[in-house]
Order: sequence, then structure tokens, then C-alpha cells
Amino acid sequence: MAAPPEHPAFLWRNPEPRRSYDVLIVGAGGHGLATAYYLARLHGIKDVAVLERGWLGGGNMGRNTTVIRSNYLWDESAAIYEHSLKLWEGLAEDLDYDLLFSQRGVLNLAHNLHDVREGRRRVNANRLNGIDAEWLDADQVAAICPIMETSPDVRYPVLGATYQPRAGIAKHDHVAWGYARAADALGVDLIQGCEVTDLLIQSGRITGVETSRGTIRAGKVALAAAGHTSVLAGMAGLRLPLQSHPLQALVSELLEPVLPCVVMSNAVHVYVSQAHKGELVMGAGVDAHVSYSQRGSVHVIERQLAAALELFPIFARAHVLRTWAGVVDVTPDASPIVGTTPVENLYLNCGWGTGGFKATPGSGWVYAHTIAHDEPHPLNAPFTLDRFFTGALIDEHGAAAVAH
Ligand SMILES: Cc1cc2nc3c(=O)[nH]c(=O)nc-3n(C[C@H](O)[C@H](O)[C@H](O)COP(=O)(O)OP(=O)(O)OC[C@H]3O[C@@H](n4cnc5c(N)ncnc54)[C@H](O)[C@@H]3O)c2cc1C
Repeated sequence: MAAPPEHPAFLWRNPEPRRSYDVLIVGAGGHGLATAYYLARLHGIKDVAVLERGWLGGGNMGRNTTVIRSNYLWDESAAIYEHSLKLWEGLAEDLDYDLLFSQRGVLNLAHNLHDVREGRRRVNANRLNGIDAEWLDADQVAAICPIMETSPDVRYPVLGATYQPRAGIAKHDHVAWGYARAADALGVDLIQGCEVTDLLIQSGRITGVETSRGTIRAGKVALAAAGHTSVLAGMAGLRLPLQSHPLQALVSELLEPVLPCVVMSNAVHVYVSQAHKGELVMGAGVDAHVSYSQRGSVHVIERQLAAALELFPIFARAHVLRTWAGVVDVTPDASPIVGTTPVENLYLNCGWGTGGFKATPGSGWVYAHTIAHDEPHPLNAPFTLDRFFTGALIDEHGAAAVAH
């Protein structure tokens, strides 16, 4: 029998930064890495470096609760998130890397008449956009998720739920590593421990960046720095409609499989799934204050667990293993910003806030197009900075009300 292929010692090279590149991407989270991959693979732009001040995938990419879905309300959002979900469906094969992508279905619970109306409206809107959304009554919810408390006499009774069967979760680290390996193989330099400290601009045009490892010149610079985008944009004199907040999550000890799907509740404010290894993965809400620290307040976690126990009394005996936080960049309409900027050849991908993991492939795909063609793809054209001048906001607070 032939010996199995040897596992490579490294998934990507660790090159020294060169003095100049065609394109620099700032931030090696999922969005930066996906952008680099699609630039090289789909647009033939391979003289690219991704600059990361910490370690690759160590920001929100490695800190999120990995919920993937596309059941957003407005046509613009449905189009970009559904494009992303379709990319997810072929991504492991495309990257030749196991992403543990599991389409186990997502329930968004309704606990009052308003939730029911909002949920039904969203299901109708989703179906008109070709998205697999269904409305379930409480008995159907209980059939899908038997451990949930669905009796009518609790504080927040389950009156029904929207259900997207194609939604689910993936393993975030694997997604970062899969994109990194594939981008590296196409010639992209992934440079860790390299903080961008200034943007170099001459006559309204970006020419490079200052970093903790020296000056690097570039034809184009693309920001993909999530919670730190306003700091970087400030170096170019741009003031963005973004606020950065800590967002926390936690995992329990490993349990036998008990939770077959993802459950989200806006009113109770719970979102929970069970990871492949067995831990319950639960997200909390954002801390109300603005902060760049990757830690949040204890009372947020306390309230989150109290809420989780109302829906899942069976979790009462599970121990919390770890809690952590990321820094999320939130816009006034809970929708992202992806496009060009008033500075020539400087591009912006931010504002994914509490929900950008699911968008990783779609965001990288449209951002690469925007950088390569110097104009947005039709999928991200509604998501440029312009909407904050024209007023054409895409208010997804309903679909994005739970941080996820
Ligand atoms: C607790 C939590 C739960 C979440 N749950 C979900 C979920 O279930 N589903 C979902 O869809 N989304 C979720 N999100 C949101 C999602 O994680 C983010 O929207 C998404 O990861 C942001 O894109 P990114 O991966 O590129 O960001 P990041 O991984 O944060 O990448 C940005 C990178 O830029 C780097 N950087 C910053 N400044 C500089 C600089 N000056 N120089 C060089 N590098 C710099 C950072 O170090 C970082 O690595 C969650 C987020 C958190 C924190």
C-alpha cells in the first residue's frame, strides 16, 4: 500500500517584506486573505502582500462564533450574502482544504407578535430572492431542536421561527489557513508581525505604507482591518461612520452531541451552536462602550448565560471553559462598506460588524473585483461610502440584531 502523502511542515512561506508591491492588503483576517486569494486566482494580480500586525487569523477571524447564513431582509444584502453562501458551498474543494463547513440549519426564534411578523416578512422577502427560507411553528421548532424549552408558559415562549436549512457553521481557523495556503501557493506574500503605522499619500493618491518593518511602496492599498479600520482610515484623513465595540463569546466544556442546529434569538439574545469537537459555542452582545481592547465586561456574559438557560435549561450543568472578545466595526445601518475612497487607489472593506465571518468568501470576491477594476462589482455597488451621503442606507438591524 502506498504511504500517505506527508503533511507539509508549513502551510505558507514566511517571507521578508519586499520594498514594493502592486497591491498591499492591510489585515490578515478572513477578508484580507480571501481578497488576496481572489486577486491572484481570478484577476491574475499576484504581486500582492498581506500585512498583519499580529498573527494571521488572530483577530475577529479567530474569535467569532462562525454562524453562516444568507437570510437578510433587503435585496442588496440578500444578494451579497447569498453569493457568499454559494461560494461556501464549493469552498473546501476550491481551496482543497477541509473547512468543516456544516449546513445544519439556522433557526431565528420569534417570541412575540412583532417577532412573528418580522420573521414572516423576512421569509417572504428571502423566498422572492431565491433563498431557502421557511416559517416554522413552535411544534416544528421543537421537532428540529428537541432540547429547547418550547412550552407556552415561560417568560419568552417560542411562537415560531424562521429556518434556513442551507445555513450552518464552519471552522474559522481552517478557513483562514485554507485561504492563506492557497494565496501563498499563487505567490502572495503573507507577512505577519508587520504593523502599518502610516499611509503615504502624494497629490491625493496612495503610494505606500509605513510599517514596523520599514516603508513598503504600493500601486494600490486595500484596508481589511475590521475593528481597526477607522484608525487606519484616519491616517488618510478619512473619518468613517464606524464605531468599534468589544464583542464576546464563550465555549463550554466538551459535551456529547445535543444541539443539531444553530439557534438564534433576538429577543432573548442568544446564539448558540455545538462545535464539531462538542463544545457549545455561544455569542454575547456587544459592550455598549467604544473600545479597542479584546476583552469585554463580565455582566454581558452573565446576562447572556441567564438568557441561554431560559431557552436551554439542559445547559445549566455545563461548565464554561473559555471566554474571549473581538473588536467589531459597526455602521449606523448594520451593513458593510466595500468600495473605493476619496484617496486614489485606496480601498475600503469594513463595517461587517458582528456578522462578517459568513461573508468572508463573498466579501473577498467583490473586494478583489473592486481593487482589480478600480470600481465596485454590482454586488457591492450599494455598499459603498456614498450611501452615507445619498441616504440610501441598507438597514439590516432586524436581520443583524443579534450579534453573530
Ligand atoms: C465574538 C464574535 C462573534 C462573532 N460571530 C460571528 C458569527 O457567528 N457569524 C459571522 O458571520 N460573523 C461573526 N462575527 C464577526 C466576524 O468575526 C467579523 O465580521 C469578521 O471576522 C471581520 O473580518 P476579518 O475576519 O477580516 O477581521 P479580522 O480577523 O479582525 O482581521 C483584521 C486584521 O487586521 C489586522 N490589523 C489591524 N490593524 C492593523 C495594522 N495597523 N496593521 C496591520 N494589520 C492590522 C488585525 O490584527 C486583524 O488580524 C463575530 C465577531 C466576534 C468578535
